Amino acid sequence: MDQKHSNSTFPKTNRNGLPARMKRLVIKVGSRVLVDNRGRPDPRQITRLTDQIADLQQRGYEVIFVSSGAIAAGVQSLGWKQRPVNLPDLQMAAAIGQGVLLNHYSEQLVRHGCRLGQVLLTHADLNDRIRHLNARNTIMAMLRNRIIPVVNENDVVAVDEIRFGDNDLLAAMVATLIDADLLLLLTTSDGLYRTEKGKMVERIPILDDITDETLSMAQGKGSSWSSGGMGSKLQSAERAIRAGTPVVIANGRQEQVLRRVLDGEDIGTLITGTAHQQKLRARKKWIAFFHRTQGSVYVDEGAGRAILEEGHSLLPVGVERTEGRFRAGALVKIRTADGKTIARGLTAYDREDIERIKGRRSVDIPFVLGERHFVEVVHRDNMVVMAR
Ligand code: GLU
Repeated sequence: MDQKHSNSTFPKTNRNGLPARMKRLVIKVGSRVLVDNRGRPDPRQITRLTDQIADLQQRGYEVIFVSSGAIAAGVQSLGWKQRPVNLPDLQMAAAIGQGVLLNHYSEQLVRHGCRLGQVLLTHADLNDRIRHLNARNTIMAMLRNRIIPVVNENDVVAVDEIRFGDNDLLAAMVATLIDADLLLLLTTSDGLYRTEKGKMVERIPILDDITDETLSMAQGKGSSWSSGGMGSKLQSAERAIRAGTPVVIANGRQEQVLRRVLDGEDIGTLITGTAHQQKLRARKKWIAFFHRTQGSVYVDEGAGRAILEEGHSLLPVGVERTEGRFRAGALVKIRTADGKTIARGLTAYDREDIERIKGRRSVDIPFVLGERHFVEVVHRDNMVVMAR
């Protein structure tokens, strides 16, 4: 059994769909939760959050705190009236504000006897196998030593989260990186709302999965859900649940929101991901989320069905065409004729060889390529199905 679950005295929740026992939590707080109505970091809000985080650590949870707000803090330090628009100015503001933010957190957490460490990451770091493992090792060491990792994007070298999502995706990647039991996305809305004619009608307490329909609701197509940045929250929730980590989207300004979610109270929106409940093994997780693909293999309808519905490997006979430049062992997308990615996997052949054996039965491979052959282009063990 995983060590982190061996603590049997751990508080139990009874909210349906929430894991009965949780220990490792990734808590992501968006800039908007942390600032006042003039966009300046709000010390009261920072105190309320750090009090809650310290409380969770004292109750035995492992907390990883993903915090935005560096730019907001930097803009205030610089005495600027508003958030700049050009990227170098935003990056400079982040460089200044990150230190300010960390100081605020440190001052507050120290009062509770907690310690923190700064972790600055980029998507590219997590996409690189070695750096990915280093990041994981560092965060794990911090957790073992009861140090709270405070994570932000390294905005000086990357701008993914400045442009999109306010650290939502980064938080999902971190949750996956360290096998979190729950990802909490704290925002300024009480969760996901169904809206009608632009009016919020009801909170959605629970979702099993994120589907295309869910995403289009968040983008306000047809009847819709409140959007306030919900698109990126749902996309990051989708990543997390596919890797086996359920997600709660809740209001970071609600009184004692963290404790209440963990105690099983019906607040916010819980996304259980029951459809993806099996946790992906580390290698499959790597295939599914972190590594960049180097090309695509387009498959016919029969092969698509065999992969999606029957759990089969990809055989040469089902391949229609290839794209990109890749060698044997590379990660490729497996796509249907209309371009939809249904799976990702490590290919046994390089592109040129796939082109020579595509459409052929596996028994013909030795005649085309000589002795060296695998029956499959992508073996099922090296594949993760991605399609909804
Ligand atoms: N990493 C950025 C920050 O902490 C992302 C949030 C944003 O775009 O405001 O400020």
